Amino acid sequence: MNIIEVSNKFTNELDATKYFENIRWSKNIRCAYCNSSQISSRNNDYRFHCKNCNKSFSVTTNTLLHNTRLPLKTWLYSFAIVSDAKKGISAKQLERNLGVHYETAWTIGHKIRELMIIENKEIELSGILEMDETYIGGKPRKFNNGSAYETEKTYKNIELDKRIKELKQDGFKFNRQKGNSAKSDISPKRGRGTDKTPVAGIVQRDGSVIAQVMKNTTYTDLKKLVNKYVDNSESVIITDEYKAYDKFSQIIEHIKVDHQQMYSYKGVNTNSIESFWAIVKRGIIGQYHQVSFKYLPNYIAEFVFKYNNRKDDDIFETLIKNSMKPINR
Ligand SMILES: [Zn+2]
Repeated sequence: MNIIEVSNKFTNELDATKYFENIRWSKNIRCAYCNSSQISSRNNDYRFHCKNCNKSFSVTTNTLLHNTRLPLKTWLYSFAIVSDAKKGISAKQLERNLGVHYETAWTIGHKIRELMIIENKEIELSGILEMDETYIGGKPRKFNNGSAYETEKTYKNIELDKRIKELKQDGFKFNRQKGNSAKSDISPKRGRGTDKTPVAGIVQRDGSVIAQVMKNTTYTDLKKLVNKYVDNSESVIITDEYKAYDKFSQIIEHIKVDHQQMYSYKGVNTNSIESFWAIVKRGIIGQYHQVSFKYLPNYIAEFVFKYNNRKDDDIFETLIKNSMKPINR
């Protein structure tokens, strides 16, 4: 639903409330505390009374919108605005579009990112995966068109050829076209070993991505991320030559691409994850200017969510659905 549709469909708060109720309960409204169906009809303040546990509740009770002071109509507008903003949206923009105070806009933005994080917890990756880390907090990296691509004509790598052949026999299909199209950064990892904030990510080719702000990027830290999100038995993971990945073959099929020699070899490259980092960096520079370490995980979650829903026209529906999921407090 876009902003015009929201505006036409929800003329008052009751319409908006009923819409949320329908998403949460369908036709069977139940107590948000004890799940009893012995409840009063809706009161003037949009709350219900439970005859079983004697508590009162509303449609937002025990969800991420619990205790919201904003009209639900405002939330519908916010979801529509955010789902329409492909590159992310700043609090300043929300403030203007919604006509609310900056602080309110800021709170809405972060609440919406929380709704996106719920989605990210359910990600499972398998198949051909690319893993990499990036470092946030410095000057933008320069991108070029990748003159280091397709060096396979001159580059001979007997070991890599053998691995690619074996993995192809196991059913992994590396797409050679991929190496030509995407842009990449051919400079060394300037962030490694600096005080910038590391973010590690894994992408499934033509699938979903997961990314996480890291305290450290040791083997143990990166392994945890793999164990949490990857189906190890059904995957091969491509990384660069960063030392922390050295022991990855102990936990998963692992293939390294040596960026000092080449960027893509017979479809073995980390272009997909590098493209994702480019989106993150452009977004952070363009929309958010400065992101403090405290909130960086939320912003990263937003980019992950948007990337994973890139083919989905209705991020709005997903946000609504997630806003009505009961949570355990
Ligand atoms: Zn109850």
